[in-house]
Amino acid sequence: MKKVTLLIASAMIAALATSCSEQNTAEFRWQIDNFDDIKILRYQVHGFEQLSLEQKELIYYLNQAAISGRDIMFDQNFKYNLAIRRTLEAIYQNYTGDKECAEWKAFEKYLKKVWFANGIHHHYSNDKFKPEFSQEYFENVLVAQCAATIPNEGFESQAAMMEIIVPAIFDPELYPSKLVQADGVDVLKASSMNYYEGVSQAEAERFYAKMAKKNDPRPISYGLNSKLVKEGGKIYEKTYKLGGMYSAAIEQIIYWLEKAAGVAQEPQKSTLLTLVEYYKTGDLRLFDKFNIAWTKDTESYIDYVNGFTEDYGDPLGRKGAWESIVNFKNDEATLRTKIISDNAQWFEDNAPINPAFRKAEVKGVSAKVITAATLAGDAYPATPIGINLPNADWIRKEHGSKSVTIDNITEAYAESAHGNGFDEEFILRKEDRQRIEEYGRLGDNLHTDIHECLGHGSGQLAPGTKGGELKQYSSTLEEARADLFGLYYLGDPKLVELGLVPSFDVAKAQYAEYIMNGMMTQFTRIELGKNVEESHMRNRKLIAEWCYEHGKAENVIEWVVENGKRYVVVNDFERLRTLFGEMLYEVQRIKSEGDFEAGRDLVERYAVKIDPELHKEVLERYATLNIQPYAGFINPIYTLVEEDGKVVDVKIEYPDNYIEQMLYYSNNYSFLPTLN
Ligand code: ZN
Repeated sequence: MKKVTLLIASAMIAALATSCSEQNTAEFRWQIDNFDDIKILRYQVHGFEQLSLEQKELIYYLNQAAISGRDIMFDQNFKYNLAIRRTLEAIYQNYTGDKECAEWKAFEKYLKKVWFANGIHHHYSNDKFKPEFSQEYFENVLVAQCAATIPNEGFESQAAMMEIIVPAIFDPELYPSKLVQADGVDVLKASSMNYYEGVSQAEAERFYAKMAKKNDPRPISYGLNSKLVKEGGKIYEKTYKLGGMYSAAIEQIIYWLEKAAGVAQEPQKSTLLTLVEYYKTGDLRLFDKFNIAWTKDTESYIDYVNGFTEDYGDPLGRKGAWESIVNFKNDEATLRTKIISDNAQWFEDNAPINPAFRKAEVKGVSAKVITAATLAGDAYPATPIGINLPNADWIRKEHGSKSVTIDNITEAYAESAHGNGFDEEFILRKEDRQRIEEYGRLGDNLHTDIHECLGHGSGQLAPGTKGGELKQYSSTLEEARADLFGLYYLGDPKLVELGLVPSFDVAKAQYAEYIMNGMMTQFTRIELGKNVEESHMRNRKLIAEWCYEHGKAENVIEWVVENGKRYVVVNDFERLRTLFGEMLYEVQRIKSEGDFEAGRDLVERYAVKIDPELHKEVLERYATLNIQPYAGFINPIYTLVEEDGKVVDVKIEYPDNYIEQMLYYSNNYSFLPTLN
């Protein structure tokens, strides 16, 4: 998976006491705003103050390079997003009429949503927003009063611009979805993203098929950094580069990347300059060269993503959305993954599986844990909690990839979930709540580390098994295998010996949470009447239900009803751990032998169907908590401190106003023309 988004409902990450020592987290306000289905959080950049001046400067320049590209994502999402955003912002900053009425409030909410989604379509569902204020109010009150302040460059006149953007905002039939990937329709015609214009799906496919070299072992990512257009019967690419499309923003990005190269050490300095060359020329071979150098550089303390990267927003999966993340290594947490990775062979040799299915020689995958310092473009305000890049398959095969977990983002999710009432609603026993409070996050993190670093890579196939035998059940069973590996070892005394956990209490916290999630609370994300489909969710239900069933005679896991509410509780944690081991033995056997029938039976019996009564109850109880399902972040602000023309420090501040940050960026980092 290229991009790891938060798979567990945000409240499921246990609210937790983190080990971060330097900031007084208790007084830090994590959540600063909410509207609709969105909450806005802040994250802390732990360790920034301890960086050297040179490192701080590097972060500052990379931060500027990141923010400078903000407009690009708006334009990539929809051709008229910048015109709409600038119109709304002009009104927002200049309107002097009644700001207490419901229509103004609805207008403000709409603008907040547009900022959040980098456009007029929902960042996750891709559906166009429905304004809750009327077109009459917009035209006759807001635009009428603010007309003189609304920019319309790129359009013949303001009236001509309004003729385009007013229906784009208000007509539900127009541009209904940013991204359509259905069978049997022209997905380019049906989607209103701005990666193609005037081109049919068939024409685009033909265009790129012709470009690709047959059997090229190192194929260029054709189309990644361009818009494909048809004008006057001719189809051609408008390349995103200096002097090409998005030039004005790219010029700024280059300026700041060159500054960054000026304070960076080798090999990072050369790598940054290769990226600059790529932005100047648009040459995708240089992008490959950059990615290889970037992947090999695992030593630089400060790191970054900056470029046209993920292709999820293109229905044909080719065009890269612009994004940037600036970060540095979290030494303490990376130590955790290193200890696990260094002991990979011990874990393999002691796995509760048939010895014939153990790997004789195992290679631990090393992953680092990072602290985000700036999020931008496609990664702002909504952001992934982990990233694995680069995306080109041949580079991954020949040079590997970098896998990172963004620790201060998961921290913010966990901290902000604290006190939202979720645990009180769904966890019956006080001792479980307390353990989750104390060890929930450590348990989550360790489970994820073991799952990723060891679980997926463990075990081997029996002679004669090719892989692929488990077909549609393979990903659920594979996730179950990795999860069981993590769950089993989380309770192993070896973890105490390695200094990774203080006691078995960490496992107890994780087990209670995992079982509750698998059998109950994860259903909050599924519509009533629907089955569990997503493989990570199926895997959790499979494990929890299997252990419930197989521990029933000993009452290991129990359903308890109190005050008319259902709770699931774990009575015997030690026995639950051995059940995880027994299940892992069987799941590994199924994979190693390619036993499709047994795999299907497990998944169909335990992982798919939800008891409708329970589902209804869970949804109702969740609804009363009023928790927004999506979150995004605002960035800290960095400022150079200069004395006699020399940089002597970089200051970090944590603003706490979402609207102010958005307007600050729009007013100071808006480099692109309204129409591109
Ligand atoms: Zn996995």
